[in-house]
Amino acid sequence: MNIKRPIPITDLDSVDWWSAVSRHEFVCARCSDCNVWRWPARAICGACGSMTWEWQELTGNGTIASWIVNRHGFGGAFPLPSTVVLVRLAEQDDLLLPGGWAGSADGVDLSVGLSVVVGFEDIESETGDSDHAVLSWGPRHG
Ligand SMILES: [Zn+2]
Repeated sequence: MNIKRPIPITDLDSVDWWSAVSRHEFVCARCSDCNVWRWPARAICGACGSMTWEWQELTGNGTIASWIVNRHGFGGAFPLPSTVVLVRLAEQDDLLLPGGWAGSADGVDLSVGLSVVVGFEDIESETGDSDHAVLSWGPRHG
């Protein structure tokens, strides 16, 4: 089900990432010289200074590092309450990505270190443009 809400705002560094997410592909920029993952995507590697990189697929596995429970409506763009999580990715300890939480709306089922897996939520702009998605994390079973 598509939910109408504000669509992601992209820039030169992030437009390809958001395009991948809209296709339900979970990728991250990775330095071609030292293999460090770069998040958010940027031209220069923070570890080695290299300007070469490529998009690579991530496993989609991580653990909960933190979360917030929104109780403000933001003009009705989100159901209330809604929870946003910060996930530490399995690939690299300092790789933390935010996203929605597919579990309990008020986050009562969350705990730091909980194993999660990425999912995607299709969204539709208020003007009817539907080629967008955002991350939606959920508990990893097994
Ligand atoms: Zn590097």
